Amino acid sequence: MSIGEQSGSLPRRKGQTMSEAPTASTETMEFKSELRQILHLITHSLYSNKEIFLRELISNASDAINKIRFNSINNSDLLDGDTEWKIKLIADKDKNTLTVSDNGTGMSRDTIIDQLGTIAKSGTRAFLETLQQADEASRPELIGQFGVGFYSSFMVADRVTVVSRLAGDPKDQGVRWVSAGEGEFTIKTVDKETHGTDVTLHLKEDEKEFLEEWRLRQVVKEFSDFIEYPVVMDVERHEPVEGEDDKEDDKTEAVVREETLNSMKALWLRSKDEIEEDEYNAFYRQISHDYGDPAKVIHYTAEGLTEFKVLLFIPAKRPFDMMFGDPKVGPRLYVQRVQIMENCEELLPPYLRFIKGVVDCADLPLNVSREILQQNPILDRIRKNIVKRIFTVLEEMKKDEFDKYVAFYRELGPILKEGMAQDFENRDTLTTLAVYESMNTEAGKYISMDEYVDQMPPDQEEIYYLIGEHRGMLERTPYLEVFRDRGWNVLFMTDPIDEFVMSSVDEYREKKYKAADKGDIAADEEGKARAEDDEKTFQALIEALKGKIPEVQDVRLSTRLKDSASCLVADEGAMSAHMERLMQRMGEGGGQTTKRILELNAGHPVVQGLQKLHDSDGEDVRVESIGRLLYEQAVVAEGSKLDDPVGFASRINDLLVKELIRI
Ligand code: ADP
Repeated sequence: MSIGEQSGSLPRRKGQTMSEAPTASTETMEFKSELRQILHLITHSLYSNKEIFLRELISNASDAINKIRFNSINNSDLLDGDTEWKIKLIADKDKNTLTVSDNGTGMSRDTIIDQLGTIAKSGTRAFLETLQQADEASRPELIGQFGVGFYSSFMVADRVTVVSRLAGDPKDQGVRWVSAGEGEFTIKTVDKETHGTDVTLHLKEDEKEFLEEWRLRQVVKEFSDFIEYPVVMDVERHEPVEGEDDKEDDKTEAVVREETLNSMKALWLRSKDEIEEDEYNAFYRQISHDYGDPAKVIHYTAEGLTEFKVLLFIPAKRPFDMMFGDPKVGPRLYVQRVQIMENCEELLPPYLRFIKGVVDCADLPLNVSREILQQNPILDRIRKNIVKRIFTVLEEMKKDEFDKYVAFYRELGPILKEGMAQDFENRDTLTTLAVYESMNTEAGKYISMDEYVDQMPPDQEEIYYLIGEHRGMLERTPYLEVFRDRGWNVLFMTDPIDEFVMSSVDEYREKKYKAADKGDIAADEEGKARAEDDEKTFQALIEALKGKIPEVQDVRLSTRLKDSASCLVADEGAMSAHMERLMQRMGEGGGQTTKRILELNAGHPVVQGLQKLHDSDGEDVRVESIGRLLYEQAVVAEGSKLDDPVGFASRINDLLVKELIRI
C-alpha cells in the first residue's frame, strides 16, 4: 500500500497533493543479519509496553524537525515555505493503518537504505545478546536506549511503509521503503510533494487499539508530552449546528478539527517552583529512554556574564548505551529555543556522559557552525559551571542520602571514577565522591575516602587498597593478615576500571596510596627486632629456594603474613596478578606473566620445619618439593592458575601417603 492511497487523511500541507507517481521500479534488499535477528526478537518476543513504538516514532520525527530547523538557519531554500512544524498522527480505521507524519528534514534514498536496513551500529551484537537475556519487561527500554527505536514499530505492525523526501531534493526524488520486518525490504523512488517523512504502520489484527483516539492521546501524554512540536490528530466532534434557533439546540453536526495532543512545555524555561516532580520525571523518561525515575534533578538559571538555563538529570541506573556501543556525551544545547546539538560534547567531560538534559543559552550565536561553537569561550564557561554544580549535587546526596548515593555509585561510579585518572583539576573532588567496600565494613556496606582517612590510626601512614574480582576472594587472601593484626583498614576495589584508575593516582589528603599486595609492608617495632634474627636463620634456605623455584624473581621473609605460610607479591609499580588476569581475559598481554616475589612466614611451622630440614641436609629432595608446594599454595591463594597442576597434585599425594601410613 502506498501513502497515496491514504489521500483522504494525510496532513494537508501547503502545495501538497496526494498523488504519487512511481518513477522507478521496486528494488528488493536484504536486512543486515544482526538487524534481522533484532527484528525477529522484536516481532516474536516483545509483549509488554508495546506502546513505546509511538514514542520512538514521534521522537524520530521531532529530531528530523530539529534537524531541518537547524540546517535551514544558513539555507532557507530547504524549507519549501513549509515552516508550520508539526507531527501528525493519522489513524485510518478502514485500512487499519496508523501514520506518523512529519515535515522534518526527511531522508534520501541512501540514508533510508543505510539507516533503516543495512547499518549495523557498533555494539549491535552485544545488544542482541543482552536483549536475548533480558527479561521481557525491560526489553522495550533497551530498544529505545540502543537507538533501534524505529524497529519497535514491528511490535504492533506486520508491515511498515516509509515515504520520505530529503529537504532540498527535487519532488520526484522521494523514496518509499516497505518491509514486513522479516528478511528484506523494498525500496522505490517516488514523487513526494513535501519534504519530511510519513511512517505508516499496517497494524496487526490485535493491535487495533492504536487507532483509537483515547489510546493515542494516552500514549502521547505519557511518553511524548514534552516534545516541543505539536503532535496533532484530526478529531471528529459533534458540535451544535450554528445558526439554528434555540429550540433546536440539540441538533449537532460532525466537525473534524485538528487537535494538539501534547503540552509542548519547555520545562527548563519554567520556574522551578511551578514544576511537579512527576513532570520532571516524565521529561527525564522522554529524553533518556529510561523507564525509571532519575536519582537527582538539577534545574537552575545561571546569571552573570553569560545567562543560561540548565535542566540536568543524574540517572539512578546505568544507561544501556554506557555498556555497549558509542555513548553520546553531553546535554542537548538550545539557543533561542532551537536545538543546536543533540549532544553537546563540549559541555561535559566524558566521565559525566551519563548526565542527560538540556542547556539553553540565549547568548550563543544561532547561525554558527559546530567548529566555531567549539572554540566559543561561552561554552567553556557553561561547562565549568555545570560540572561544578553536578559535583555539588553529588556531594550533597552523599552527605544527606548516603544509601541512595551508594546505590547510584554502584551503578555509575565505574564511569565517574574514570575522571580520577583523566581530570587532574577535579581529581580530589572525584576522590571525595568515591565510595568503596572495605575489610572492616560488612559486605555490601560502603565507606568514603574521607571516612577511611579519618579512621586511620596514628601509626598508619598510607591508604591501603586491594584490587580483585570480588569481595569474597579479597577477604580470604593472605595479604590482609598484617592489616587485621594491626587494625588498619584496607579498601576493597572490585571494578575493572580500578586497576587503571589506581595506576594513575598518587595520593589523597597527603596520604600515598599503596596496594596491599605489592612491595614491602614496613615491619612494626617488634617485627623489626625479630627480623634481624630471622634473616640469619633463614638465609641459607632462602638462597636455596631462589635456585629451585625459577618462577619467582625473589624469595624473602614476609612482614605481612600472620597465619598463612606463604604468599606472592608484586613489585611496587609492577602489574598485579589481578591486572594480568584482566588482560588475559581481554586477549592482551600475550599470556606473559611478570615474575613475582615469594614471601615466607618465618613464624609458620611449615617454614620453620623446612628451614630445619635444609639445615640438616641441604641436598634433601624434599626441600625442593616442599618449597614448591609453598609457592603453589601462594599461586592458588592469589586466585591464579597453576602452571603444573598435575605436579602439584602428585606432591600433595606424596605427603598424604606418608600421613596415611601413620594411621
Ligand atoms: P535512532 O533514532 O536512535 O538513530 P532509529 O532506528 O529510530 O534509531 O532510527 C534510525 C535512523 O533513521 C535515525 O537516526 C534517522 O537518521 C533515521 N530516521 C528515522 N525516522 C526518521 C524521520 N522521521 N525523519 C528523518 N529521519 C529518520
